[in-house]
Amino acid sequence: MLSKPIFGYAKPKFNYELLSTVLPQPITIPRPASATLLLPREMGPAPSSSLKIGTRVRTGQRLAWDDAPGPAVVATFTGQITAIAPQLGDYGRKYTALTIATEARDEWDEAFAQACAATTPATLADYLSSAPGAPALDKLLNPRKPIHTIIIYGGDTDLLVDSNLYVLKSQTAAVEKGIRVLKETAGVEKIILAVPGESFQNFDGHFAAEVRAVPASYPSAQPLMLFYQLFGRILNQGQSFESQGVLFMRAEAVAAIGTALDQRRVPLEKVLTVLDKQGNKHMVAARIGTPIGTILKTLGIALADRDRLIFGGPMTGTAVYSEDQPVQADTDAIMVQDAGQIILSSDYPCINCGECVRICPSNIAVNMLVRFLEMGQSQDGADLYDLYSCVECGLCSLVCVSRMPILQYIKLAKFELARTVPAEEINE
Ligand code: SF4
Ligand code: SF4
Repeated sequence: MLSKPIFGYAKPKFNYELLSTVLPQPITIPRPASATLLLPREMGPAPSSSLKIGTRVRTGQRLAWDDAPGPAVVATFTGQITAIAPQLGDYGRKYTALTIATEARDEWDEAFAQACAATTPATLADYLSSAPGAPALDKLLNPRKPIHTIIIYGGDTDLLVDSNLYVLKSQTAAVEKGIRVLKETAGVEKIILAVPGESFQNFDGHFAAEVRAVPASYPSAQPLMLFYQLFGRILNQGQSFESQGVLFMRAEAVAAIGTALDQRRVPLEKVLTVLDKQGNKHMVAARIGTPIGTILKTLGIALADRDRLIFGGPMTGTAVYSEDQPVQADTDAIMVQDAGQIILSSDYPCINCGECVRICPSNIAVNMLVRFLEMGQSQDGADLYDLYSCVECGLCSLVCVSRMPILQYIKLAKFELARTVPAEEINE
């Protein structure tokens, strides 16, 4: 298999958002009548007593399918469970959707406050994995893949979005506390805070972390690109960041850890960038589980037939099909596209114009790679045309004159190949 290094990634065409020194005040989204939490596991045969329709849950209560340690979600509202249903996410991810009819006031569950008396990595994972920024704290518990380095990214990973940078700038003390918790409780030796170049001097020396500047040009902040810039290598088939001893976290996730330990309550609100049909930007704070429809209504954004809703930014976002979709712990942005402005993908063939090759930051022969991927020949694409050098930036899809959904082909191919890796290799 080829493992071509990523040369020439510095072909800046677009820059990430860099907030001005005067930070915007987010609009607080009101409490919805009902909220939906996505528990990251499939429905099983024996739910715990707290997961029954009609059960009243309290704010901050840990909800898991059974009483064994494992995936859980923390209730962000007090109220009664009115529905439990399976939900399928992207690329085969399975969830159990818990709908809660919310009450007007919060009644807090105190189990997390009690657990804070003797915080362990397991306590952090149990209560904070569904906190704003979705810290992947369960990855710290796997003795077969010990984590030696945490990379905290302080900017955002898509264009026009500035949610994460906003949290880094507005909750600096919480980020600082979160870094100390990760070092002391989880015992991670090395923590790197990667920040967009222009804001480097604002943070250097202020954290118990090594602060590194990252270019502000897209796609320098994609995790795969950051990994290459910091470690000089790429991930190959079957490898994950954790298999290399590395864990990525957003600054918002680290701030959530710091705030939780400080206040002894799990943070509930997610900061989001909302891009409306006219291209205006709104910064909002909404509790996790709030339906998108409530946010759009608060901002006065009306949807018409065939308008498109996207979770994420313009380059890597994913379309969602209902205003009932809830804000999740890792939802950094919501984009609304007017039906008349949507550029649809097509099934036209590649005309070999070479635009994708010229713009690719990983110097992949995208025009050749896509020929294999659209025929379902993912392994050949990986072996012959450097599938694993792709950092999933979406620039090739943006410039493709045939409007081919190249990024989607790439993601699907990586997903399919990951399923073929034997379990013993995954656990290496
Ligand atoms: S998404 Fe396209 S442009 Fe970006 S690295 Fe991958 S192949 Fe290259
Ligand atoms: S931009 Fe599209 S049409 Fe042009 S070479 Fe690349 S895949 Fe083919």
